[in-house]
Amino acid sequence: MHLDLHRHLEGSHSPEALAEVARTFDIRDPVFFDAAAQRFRTADELRPALTMPPGGDAQAFYDCIVKARAAYVSVDAIAALARHAFREAAADTDGFELRISLFSMTRTLIDQQGGRWRDVAPTVFAEQHARPILLAVLAARDEVHAATGVPMVVRLGLSRTFESEPHYRALGDMVVEHATRLVGLDVLGIVSGPDREPLPPAMVDILQRMRRHLPDLTIHAGELAGADSVDRTLALDPRGIGHGVRSLDSDATIARLVDAGVTLEVCPTSNHLLIPDEVAAITRARGAAPLPALQRAGVHCVLGSDDPTPMDTTFRRELDLARAAGVDLARLEADARRRWAEMTGAALPA
Ligand SMILES: [Zn+2]
Repeated sequence: MHLDLHRHLEGSHSPEALAEVARTFDIRDPVFFDAAAQRFRTADELRPALTMPPGGDAQAFYDCIVKARAAYVSVDAIAALARHAFREAAADTDGFELRISLFSMTRTLIDQQGGRWRDVAPTVFAEQHARPILLAVLAARDEVHAATGVPMVVRLGLSRTFESEPHYRALGDMVVEHATRLVGLDVLGIVSGPDREPLPPAMVDILQRMRRHLPDLTIHAGELAGADSVDRTLALDPRGIGHGVRSLDSDATIARLVDAGVTLEVCPTSNHLLIPDEVAAITRARGAAPLPALQRAGVHCVLGSDDPTPMDTTFRRELDLARAAGVDLARLEADARRRWAEMTGAALPA
């Protein structure tokens, strides 16, 4: 059973989906529309702009995300993009979790519609702008699930960019009203500065309030920062850690992960693109790629495609890479089933 347990909606807008949505909603942004030729670009023409160049970095990745977000011109356009993303993930897997960065999506939509999100009162931001987006994404999930039967869950991500405490707080209060339709919370986001994986105290406070309704927490850590970042993250008692591969720099951190039964969500292509030097150093030191090395150390691991469009990958390709790296595939599936049951309270069919 192929379970993708680390995949982001914003990184799942394929060139085909974006080309179609741009035409349907007449989105004449230069990303999608060639003004000189007076026509919309084809999926093949869009692909290079939406995919990270070789040797790209976190900024090159983020630039791809920003281009895709240019299609967030209305709730209906976001709903159409979400339906495409759920359908494509269902075709690529036997079950998956999709994460949504609701704050970023809402901020982007307000800006695209000519507003200034900082001028929007926090409760209005949450109730009138963010809630319709969340409901549209959940409706897209329900529609595609009904049509395909593929198990699929949605996780709500909060970005550590943490642009506005009052807006995050209002967003959190709104989101928990829909807790039964979500599987949990995630902390994500790329920031610059000396601390690449910060956990702002006010954001942690908001998370802890939301966790009364959405207890299953995952946090991106041990990717752009080292094992210390994973140690700090473990203090929040997450059930999953996004990436976390740099835990392999510290035997003490690995022991803590094993003791706590925390699952690492490993995304080989993403790591290869964003932290190639760190992955090479780990592979040299451990005599194996991060995923098999973590398995051998006794850490529960699942596999993810992370952001298939900018990273030009699929879940099936990640599985091929895992197989080639010597991953224990039976154990990988057992860990994915274990994690699914942990976060949903229900086992998947055999
Ligand atoms: Zn991620």
